Amino acid sequence: MPAPSSYPVPLEALLKELRRLPGVGPKSAERMALWLLGPDTERAFSLSSAITSAAEAIRHCAKCGFFSCGEICPICADPLREGREICVVEQATDILPMEKTGIFNGRYHSLGGKLSPLDHVGPDQLRIGALLERIDTEKPSEIILALSADVEGGATTSYLAEILKGKNVPVSRVAHGLPAGGGLEHADALTLQNALSGRSKV
Ligand SMILES: [Zn+2]
Repeated sequence: MPAPSSYPVPLEALLKELRRLPGVGPKSAERMALWLLGPDTERAFSLSSAITSAAEAIRHCAKCGFFSCGEICPICADPLREGREICVVEQATDILPMEKTGIFNGRYHSLGGKLSPLDHVGPDQLRIGALLERIDTEKPSEIILALSADVEGGATTSYLAEILKGKNVPVSRVAHGLPAGGGLEHADALTLQNALSGRSKV
């Protein structure tokens, strides 16, 4: 019998799916499969069930883009946040770190990315139209641009500052200090607090 040149088909299928995860290469995928298919199969079934439950229950809030179990997330549904600032961030995962600082009581708006010509991300790929609509309907007191301090974040901030000139709302950008390339997701609470309180008008 010839030596096998590949793993059994179900394992190859698992490895293929794992390799599709962000930042996972062939070796990491093998390590994950080894752990998942280890002596305790409960690991694999538990992960599989968590993925299915999340995929079935979680959607993006129709307003801000944050993760939500309903059409609108609790932050957007909170009447006390009505008419206050809207903090514009790159990703849905940037919202929770800001929320955890406890110093911001407005609403958020995730763009779903930042302008990046190299990655073919232009204004049409971002949730900019939805932001303009929210400004008209929610009439926020201020728009705070809280994008990362790298080149693409800077370009996106400048682009938004320009098109928001047409809206009758004050626009500011957070102070520099957000980690370049990482965005809000990796900033600690104090950094976020300083970035927010040191924001400047644009
Ligand atoms: Zn929301």
